[in-house]
Amino acid sequence: MQGGTAIAGLPPVVIPVFVSNLGCAHRCVFCDQGQFSAPVRPGEIPHLVEEFLSGCASAHSRRRVLGFFGGSFTGIEGRQLQAYLDVARDLMARGRIHAAKASTRPDMVSEDILNLLGRAGFEELEIGVQSMDDAVLQASMRGHTAEDALRACALVRASGMRLGIQLMPGLPGEDGESFRRTVAAAVRMKPDTARIYPTVVLKGTLLEQRYLQGGYEPLSLDEALRRTLFAVLSLEAQGCTILRMGLPQSPSLKVAAGPFHECFGFLVRAHGYAMMAEKAVQRLGKGCELSVNPRDIPELVGYRSRTRDRLGFLYSFHETIPRGTIRARAASESTCIQLQDILEYIL
Ligand code: SF4
Repeated sequence: MQGGTAIAGLPPVVIPVFVSNLGCAHRCVFCDQGQFSAPVRPGEIPHLVEEFLSGCASAHSRRRVLGFFGGSFTGIEGRQLQAYLDVARDLMARGRIHAAKASTRPDMVSEDILNLLGRAGFEELEIGVQSMDDAVLQASMRGHTAEDALRACALVRASGMRLGIQLMPGLPGEDGESFRRTVAAAVRMKPDTARIYPTVVLKGTLLEQRYLQGGYEPLSLDEALRRTLFAVLSLEAQGCTILRMGLPQSPSLKVAAGPFHECFGFLVRAHGYAMMAEKAVQRLGKGCELSVNPRDIPELVGYRSRTRDRLGFLYSFHETIPRGTIRARAASESTCIQLQDILEYIL
């Protein structure tokens, strides 16, 4: 479960603090954290936490985790990093939060820094793995290697902290085979959580220049959905929790090109259901009845009911059907398909 033990049976609530680009030694080709927001200063965090809590009544009965995102947290220089840790520790001592987490680059993780975070009450570190293909990392100007990511993830696991990873399908130089290898390596890292952000061309980035000069072609939305679905099902099969798929919608997000969609995460799941439904209809014929768990109905019918309209099935729901499963029935036949059954057909 994200962020550790739940209180009152609910998952923890994460209070985000954006430290945009702090700690980054250079700029990756796709990144413009500056367009999201200025880094939150340590002294602003207590007020930000109180504002968050006053606007989220349920947070008081849940585990509360302060999350530092948007930069390379462990690369922040000594005194400034200490100021962030002190604020987190003080909020914990006053019972305003229960723990903290952060995201960082693979080449900025060491035993010393993990000990420092552990002593300050951090319980999870997210590593921006992005790709496990050195050629792709180089073309993306990441400034680290796949080996760095393996080492960082192993150190986080050995520290006893929870491990989160981030992957970016569609980086420069990646093809389907390269992404398959990235996912296989990611699965071996045994992450507790993952975020998957298909590469989008943001205005003002080096990637935008390459795109405008014809040197980079973003993934189509369909290919981005397929690569993301492949990663999601592969990681979920190992017990990993997917925290996010696709960039969140924001007024400051300036997309020049690429597979951005405000409902990206929903589209990924709906793509999986469309593949399952297609298999069921192939086996039992048009007009068969597909049943799912009531909470899976939106994914089954698809975005704007497109899957149902395209495949022409009837549908119903039943509480006893496990999530991620379709039961299909025709006059004299029935079959059952699960999301994991389509994994080998996705890419
Ligand atoms: S390390 Fe992360 S935050 Fe820093 S420039 Fe690269 S992508 Fe952006």
